[in-house]
Amino acid sequence: MLNYLDIELREDERLIQQTVREFVEREALPLLRPCFAEGRFPSELIAPMAELGLLGATLPEYGAGVGPVGYGMICQELERGDSGLRSFVSAQSSLCMFPIYKYGSEAQRRRYLPEMARGRLIGCFGLTEPEHGSDPSALETTATPDGGDWVLNGTKAWITNGSIAGVAVVWCRTPDGIRGFLIDQDRPGFSTREIKDKLSLRASVTSELIFQDCRVPGGALLPGATGLRAALSCLTEARFGIAFGAVGAAMACYESALNYAKLRVQFGKPIAAFQLTQEKLVEMLTGTTQGQLLALQLGRLKEAGRLRHQQVSLAKRANVAMALDVARVARSILGANGISLEHPIFRHMVNLESVYTYEGTHEVHTLVVGQDVTGLSAF
Ligand SMILES: Cc1cc2nc3c(=O)[nH]c(=O)nc-3n(C[C@H](O)[C@H](O)[C@H](O)COP(=O)(O)OP(=O)(O)OC[C@H]3O[C@@H](n4cnc5c(N)ncnc54)[C@H](O)[C@@H]3O)c2cc1C
Repeated sequence: MLNYLDIELREDERLIQQTVREFVEREALPLLRPCFAEGRFPSELIAPMAELGLLGATLPEYGAGVGPVGYGMICQELERGDSGLRSFVSAQSSLCMFPIYKYGSEAQRRRYLPEMARGRLIGCFGLTEPEHGSDPSALETTATPDGGDWVLNGTKAWITNGSIAGVAVVWCRTPDGIRGFLIDQDRPGFSTREIKDKLSLRASVTSELIFQDCRVPGGALLPGATGLRAALSCLTEARFGIAFGAVGAAMACYESALNYAKLRVQFGKPIAAFQLTQEKLVEMLTGTTQGQLLALQLGRLKEAGRLRHQQVSLAKRANVAMALDVARVARSILGANGISLEHPIFRHMVNLESVYTYEGTHEVHTLVVGQDVTGLSAF
């Protein structure tokens, strides 16, 4: 008999889930709480994650070639640990390795992907700018052709992995429209600045990327990435993972609240015995189960090659909102202890505030789905 939070998976998918869960429980969780407190990314986990094949996992040839639901399970289990850990893998795999694989030349693939899969080279994805978040079509960073080179000027903001990345996928305005570039971290004129005063995703690196007359060779251009559509296709890959990841965060909050409610005694009874607490637990379990099924449906559609980006928007929007609700209710079950870092709930809750905003805000995904169902753009 399956437990409530176990869903029907294929054998290979189940194996991936169990392997990543064990890794997170054994190696990651003991580090995540102190790292969150210190505001540092647990970089000692990169090598073991690479060893397990979690970086670029879906890529054939360069990665383990796992299927969509297998990738979803990786995201779910990593985010059950911490959204920062899943964000690291999303940025590395979906936002950096995926565009190199899909839009890069053979030379670019050979140069970057094997090192990235081994975790020896970290990647980031620079689209957002200080003045342009939800509307990246207005981005201002320029790449100007000069001889056979390109010269970049501008600033990218809120970039996951920015200061630890050896290579950045950077989206710039060129005379031919928006194009993607691969910028090595050691290029003169390229610097980063880590954003330190975050209260969310503290176990994740977030940075500005600054380009001041940064000259790169012609070969830095991603030849297949033309227009904003290419950048958005990478975000669809990452959002797909978030739809699963958010379920992992919700599971962690639900399980923590359930265990606490059974142990905490008030008015002579465990608080789990009160009807109001049971209603909270049942609502949390229902939301999490619905989120799992939505994510699984997304995965099966992707497997069949029938997934549309609007469906990914729907699932990202719904599952992150669900996880935030679950986290807030779980927090209330723990009372004062709910605000302590000793328990995982508040950490998940504040992490999810970032997940609600990044990769397209909740509101922007509302407009994406709204346009799809009505045929009318409200942007
Ligand atoms: C921790 C973290 C990591 C990130 N990592 C990356 C990364 O790796 N790479 C990257 O490129 N970016 C990254 N981002 C940036 C993220 O994608 C943006 O923050 C996001 O797109 C929203 O942009 P903004 O913050 O400028 O908000 P804004 O676009 O200024 O939006 C502010 C508010 O206005 C609302 N709004 C905007 N337009 C509309 C509209 N038409 N209708 C209704 N409401 C609207 C928004 O929904 C939001 O509520 C990250 C952000 C965070 C917090």
